[in-house]
Amino acid sequence: MNSLFLIAQNTTSLSKDEQVLDNKLSLLKTEILNNAEKDKLPIYTTTFSTLKPLIENSTLYKTFQKMPKGALLHSHSGGITNAEWLIHKAAAYENCYVFTDTNQQKHPFGQLMIFKENEVPNGFIKLKDFLKNDSNAKEKLLQLLTLKRNNLSEYIDYWVEFEKRFQRIGSLLTYRPIFKEYYQEAFQELIKDHVQHVEIRYIFGQLFDDERQDYPIETAVFDLKKIEKEIQKTHPEFTVKIIYTSLKFLDKTIVEKELEKAYQLKKKYPDFITGFDLVADEASGNSVAYFNPLWKNMKNLEKKYRVKLPLYLHAGESCSIHNHNISEIPLANNRRIGHALNLIYFPKLMEQVKQKQNLIEVSPISNQTLGYVSDLRNHPARVLLANNVNISINSDDPGVFGYDGLSYDFWMAFMNWDLTVKDLKKLIFNSIEFSSLNTSEKQKAKLHLQKEWNAFVKNSIQ
Ligand SMILES: [Zn+2]
Repeated sequence: MNSLFLIAQNTTSLSKDEQVLDNKLSLLKTEILNNAEKDKLPIYTTTFSTLKPLIENSTLYKTFQKMPKGALLHSHSGGITNAEWLIHKAAAYENCYVFTDTNQQKHPFGQLMIFKENEVPNGFIKLKDFLKNDSNAKEKLLQLLTLKRNNLSEYIDYWVEFEKRFQRIGSLLTYRPIFKEYYQEAFQELIKDHVQHVEIRYIFGQLFDDERQDYPIETAVFDLKKIEKEIQKTHPEFTVKIIYTSLKFLDKTIVEKELEKAYQLKKKYPDFITGFDLVADEASGNSVAYFNPLWKNMKNLEKKYRVKLPLYLHAGESCSIHNHNISEIPLANNRRIGHALNLIYFPKLMEQVKQKQNLIEVSPISNQTLGYVSDLRNHPARVLLANNVNISINSDDPGVFGYDGLSYDFWMAFMNWDLTVKDLKKLIFNSIEFSSLNTSEKQKAKLHLQKEWNAFVKNSIQ
């Protein structure tokens, strides 16, 4: 390990400049709290969706925007890019249509799809016309593509509404020209927010365009790698990794085939496909243990394809102690756990997670918006931090939650968890340390982060 990096990771002491920054951030927080008090705003019980304009106007947010944040380790295909941008971009395509028929339910209202002019089904109108005919149309569509929690007592059928958002854009994102622009934009949004590395839980669908309906799944890998290369011309530090992702509610015979496909892709693109995961609502999907035969078979797949494919499982995205997914993870093969909200109710397991060097990917805004944690001061991540369990800060599906970048999540964590600069540093450097970058990439990424961090500290205290 690089010695500079060790200094940066040394969370027991801060440099003089870092101490000055620590004081400054603490003052900025006090100022926000004092203003909220003056305005009689119950800031801790106000949702992210409502606080967003206040966040954007705060110096704390502007400071976090400039802060190098290392890696975004937990994000999803279909949820990573700003929804407003997507509407604007889709409307530029003459062949993009929106479903607006309230009398039939073949599609969710507001679903965006690509059709040839003579093949448009009933109920769809040209997106361009839809936006032109009504001055509120864009805002209405934005509401349908994003999920917001306006207040903590509002009733939302969270997962039903959440999944509708993905359904509305799912097909559109497999149209290859939009697919390419979507990820280009996603990476640019992250770069602008000083994120240097991203790992996407990617669900492979078949890409199509005006010439072909049946591109092989590798086309997505090929395109994403090409976009990464293009971006590296101006931002050589920026890197992308793909975690092959399937769905928890599918039958194990289907997921078995998906897992094998993941190994095949890993063999072909060993430095780009870096892991495997299963997603979807844990309250209604299959348990992690249901897939035990698959996890056991990974040894054979490893031999067959002569590559290792680590797991990065979502587990414990739940507040219930009856959800045992966390305890069913094959920890030795697993590198990071997505959410793990109920881990704190199993202290022995929490100790094991620590021993096995698994990191918990925490997504504060996602957890609040999907109803798992209301007042973020009570987020389980605080217990993990107090027990020295490694965690990192993530945005999960910022496009669906109505924002982009990672600074909002840092703002919410900092304001609600009494974080210091020591904590921020640890969270940020953890994100590179626990990334799936290979050894030499990680070495480079650490050096870059260290340099950026030093410059950030220096500039922020002037
Ligand atoms: Zn997730």
